[in-house]
Amino acid sequence: MGKNLSFSYSKMGMYKECPQKYKFRYVHMIPEQPKYYFAFGTALHSVMEFIYKPDKISFPTLAQALAYFDTVWNKTSYEQKGYASMDKELEGYAEGRRIIESYYREFSGHFIHPLSTEMKTTLDIDGLSLISIVDRMDYLGDGRVKILDYKTGKTIQREPDQLYMYQKVVENSPLVKTMIQQKDPSVKEVRVEQLSFYHLPTLKEMTFERAADKEIFAFWQNVLKVADDIRAGKFDPTPGENQCRWCDYRNLCPVFTGKEYTTEGKSTSVLFPTKKDSTSKQVFPLDDQDLLTEKIDQYGDLLAKVSQLQKEIIDLMKKNNFARHFGEHYKAELTCIEKIEFTNKEQVIELLRQLNLLKKVLVPTKSMVVGLLTDATVSANDKKKLESFMTKTQEEELKIEKTE
Ligand code: SF4
Repeated sequence: MGKNLSFSYSKMGMYKECPQKYKFRYVHMIPEQPKYYFAFGTALHSVMEFIYKPDKISFPTLAQALAYFDTVWNKTSYEQKGYASMDKELEGYAEGRRIIESYYREFSGHFIHPLSTEMKTTLDIDGLSLISIVDRMDYLGDGRVKILDYKTGKTIQREPDQLYMYQKVVENSPLVKTMIQQKDPSVKEVRVEQLSFYHLPTLKEMTFERAADKEIFAFWQNVLKVADDIRAGKFDPTPGENQCRWCDYRNLCPVFTGKEYTTEGKSTSVLFPTKKDSTSKQVFPLDDQDLLTEKIDQYGDLLAKVSQLQKEIIDLMKKNNFARHFGEHYKAELTCIEKIEFTNKEQVIELLRQLNLLKKVLVPTKSMVVGLLTDATVSANDKKKLESFMTKTQEEELKIEKTE
C-alpha cells in the first residue's frame, strides 16, 4: 500500500484554482511570497487562542490580550509579514487592536470555555492524510459540537467545501471523540450540530446547520477525484485573469514563459527570486535576458541625464527668479512646494501618546499628524512640541510642456 497523500482544505482550494499553481507550491515546494492578510489573520487567531485556551482557569484581561497581540505582531518585520511599507503595517496593527478591543466590549462579560482552540488533527482516511486546524470547538452536550472558524478578511461568504471538510474531519476524528468522551464517557458518536464563520472585524456570525449526508458524500467524491488527479500528475494550468494576476509563479509558469518549467540544475532561490535575491537568470530565454539588461541600463542612463538637466534648469530659473521660461519647442514652469517630514516616527508616536493625542489619529500617518497642527482642539503648546519633531523643506517642481 502506498503512502497516504497529505491533503487539506487549502491544498484542495489551490488545486481547484489552478493545478499548475499547486504543482509549483507542493510538488516543486517553491514557497509563495508572504501575504499581509495571512500575517494579520494569523496574529488575530493567536490572540483568540490565547483568550480561550481551554486549560485556563480565568480569561485574560483586555490589557493582557493586547500585550499578547503586540508580542505576536512584533515577532516579524513588515516585509516578513508581506506589508508594502511600515505605514501599511502600522495600519494593520491599529486595526488588529481595534478588533480586539471591540471583541472584549462585546464578549468579555460572558466568555465561555470551549472544547478546543486551534486544534490540529491529522485524519488518515481513504488514502489521504487529512490535515485540519479547527479554530474553536464548543461542546453542546450529547456528543454534539459547534465549530467556529474565525474570518479576518474584508467580507465573509459561505464556503461550502470548508464547511463540509470540517464536518467530515471532526465527525471521523478519534482525537475529537476522545476529548468528548473525557467530558462525557457515555458518548458513542460525535455529531457536528452547527458550523459558524465568525467575522472578527465586524463581530458578525454566519451560522450553518450540519450538511446532509448526501452533500458530504458528493463533496467527498470530489475530494477523492482531486486526490486521484494529483497522484496521476495532472497539473495542467487553468489560467484566468483573477488567479494569474495575483499568482506568485507567473515568471515560472509555462503560460507566461512559453516553456515547461523544470528544476534540473536550478536551486529554488535562483528559480524563484525573493526580494533580496531578485536576479533570476534562468527563467527567461537568454536573448530576452540580454536585451532586457541592455534596455534597463539605457533607461537608467537616460534617467540620470534627465535628472542632471532638470537640476541645471531649476538652478538657472531660481538664479534669475523665473517662474516660467520658453525654449524653442517647450515651455518650463517652476513651482516651489513646502514639504513636511517627521524624521523619527517612533518619537512622534510616543509624543502623541504622552499628549493623549494618539486616539485622535487612529493611524498616525503623516497627513493625520499634520492635521493636528490646525486642529482647534489641540493646545498651542502641544502643537509646538509636535512641530519640534518636524522638518520643513522646499522642493521644486519643474513642469516641461510642448508649446503650441
Ligand atoms: S500564473 Fe496562472 S496559470 Fe500560471 S500557475 Fe499561476 S494561476 Fe496558474
